[in-house]
Amino acid sequence: MLRLGERCTAVRGPLICPAADGPRLTLIEDGLITLDAAGHINSVGPAPADCAEPVTAPGAVWLPGFVDTHVHQPQTRIIGSGTGPLLAWLERSVFPEEARLADPEYAAEVTDEFIDALIAHGTTTSVVYGSSLPPATDALFAALAEAGLRADVGLTLMDQGCPPPVCVPDAVAQAASEALVERWHGHDGDRLRFVITPRFALSCSRAQMRAAGDLAEKHGLWVQTHIAENAAELKAVAQAFPEARDYLAVYADHGLAGPRTILAHCIWFDDAAWDRVADLGCTVSHCPDSNFFLGSGAMDLAAPTARGVRVGLGSDVGAGRSFSMRQAAASAWDAARVRGVAVSAEALLWHATAGGAAACGRPEVGRLAAGLAGDLVAVDVPHYTLERGPKAVYEALAFRRDAEPVRHTVVQGRVLR
Ligand SMILES: [Zn+2]
Repeated sequence: MLRLGERCTAVRGPLICPAADGPRLTLIEDGLITLDAAGHINSVGPAPADCAEPVTAPGAVWLPGFVDTHVHQPQTRIIGSGTGPLLAWLERSVFPEEARLADPEYAAEVTDEFIDALIAHGTTTSVVYGSSLPPATDALFAALAEAGLRADVGLTLMDQGCPPPVCVPDAVAQAASEALVERWHGHDGDRLRFVITPRFALSCSRAQMRAAGDLAEKHGLWVQTHIAENAAELKAVAQAFPEARDYLAVYADHGLAGPRTILAHCIWFDDAAWDRVADLGCTVSHCPDSNFFLGSGAMDLAAPTARGVRVGLGSDVGAGRSFSMRQAAASAWDAARVRGVAVSAEALLWHATAGGAAACGRPEVGRLAAGLAGDLVAVDVPHYTLERGPKAVYEALAFRRDAEPVRHTVVQGRVLR
């Protein structure tokens, strides 16, 4: 029996264990996880024959908490706002909504809804684009600290190409970033981290991108940004940066493309660009549901995976239509079908857990193994799927469109749902 807010010491039930080294899962039909007082996993394996621990959540299977490698907190209330494609959607839906977070009360309501949605869908680790407004992002950190979720959060950098209410001069953004690093980076045993977040090339001056790259280098921070999402965006970037070889070079030239950089979307890359992503060691956040909603296209999942590039899945709320990483996995299946790429539910669930953890530099989560953080999720599956074997279970988890919120969400051993 798990009690909200308390620490759990053991979990018994079917366990789905992602592999460390590739997109594979193992299903243990009657498994047992024990946790220590600090919320780390002590042991994982089949329950012993004389196990006294009752089944924790009958009807559910347990897996590591989901990792959302790309989500926009200020867009929580504009999910489904159909004004796309990308650049029009930013103008009509995103910037006006993000401006509303200047009101602390409004920002707090949005943050509560954002956190509730993450917990309800079993997302225990998220990589978040916060507001461009420093007080709203500071308040988001405080709320995540209180809620108990694991997250990497960025102050979204925009010093040009956006309306005045969300446009923040670089000097202000840099000072705020330093203060947020000081206050929150590494909070509670690294549960919260600050991530450098230039929104995309069109919203940042060259000076801002250079300073952001320097700050990432100075503190060893991760970087996240958008790239190669939409044809009109590609054209505008090429016009704005005539000196750059291509879009990826814009970031590389400013110290923003390396082994701690998460590149979201990556739809319109040719083979040469993918080769350079691999050479630079960047990771990829694949956000297929958002890509379908804005009509951006479908990323070729085989291109990064064949090159050994780490790939996580992203909801990209609010262009993504759900916080559910199960929905992200289902949309990734559709994107693979569109591109003629072979993929499996098993591989996609791996990308939603272990793959995502690797893509955002969180080796402490994403798998079920001794020594790792006790970040767990219990998800109900139809009663007949377990009898039909692991493949049926993985497909039920990934593809059932009537997916309910998850049964339990646990972070660092603490029961959040
Ligand atoms: Zn995004």
